[in-house]
Amino acid sequence: MEIISVEGIVISSISYKESSKIINILTPEYGIIGCISKGCKSMKSKLKLPSEKFAYGIFHLYYKKQGLSTLIDGDIKDYFINIKCDINKISYLTYIVELSTDVYKQSMDEEIYKMLISSINKIEEGLDPKVITNILELQYLNYLGINLNLDECVKCGNTKVCTLSISKGGYVCSNCVNNEHLIDPKVLKMLRLYNYVDISKISNLDIDDKVRDKIDEIIDEYYKEYSGVRTKSKSFLKEINENSKINKCS
Ligand SMILES: [Zn+2]
Repeated sequence: MEIISVEGIVISSISYKESSKIINILTPEYGIIGCISKGCKSMKSKLKLPSEKFAYGIFHLYYKKQGLSTLIDGDIKDYFINIKCDINKISYLTYIVELSTDVYKQSMDEEIYKMLISSINKIEEGLDPKVITNILELQYLNYLGINLNLDECVKCGNTKVCTLSISKGGYVCSNCVNNEHLIDPKVLKMLRLYNYVDISKISNLDIDDKVRDKIDEIIDEYYKEYSGVRTKSKSFLKEINENSKINKCS
């Protein structure tokens, strides 16, 4: 067994016996590390905070490649206070952590970790969680091997496009369109930006609500249809979104 210090985020945390927990930490270098955190449920334990779900920081542990590692200590880098004060943002956090775990398990790519942390930081900074989540979802399609073609018409390569077809997997031009509805050019253009933007470099978002919601709808439909990734927390997120709409109306 070796002692390592590794940056990561706790993606799951479950009780184990009276006073301990078993946590999974997503890390860039070691992938997902399963870890026992002994005695961490005690108020006095220095392992209490580092063993909570979404704890993000540097974890010191006895590392075992096979079986459970043992958490020795942890230095929290950010508590994500702004997110944790807002039920809507917490539900986005829950969803993107769950989604990232699934995508990581399929692709084993360390970029996933970086993209997740950048997204959480942006939501914490106050950027629209729906937009950040959609950007992440869209970019993850590359890692799932089912990316949409957002460069040209999927049929003929024409770059003057008029809609997007879920079943054809990307943009379609006016010569190749069959029975697809036309989509607002603003939505088409913004989707392409979503696909290529570096999440860590986004500093402000100025997106029309209608464009934003249409993109959310398209990405949601595509995930349902093709990704095979359907997380529990996504349904919960939808419920919260619906409820907040009702509240706004009343
Ligand atoms: Zn075409």
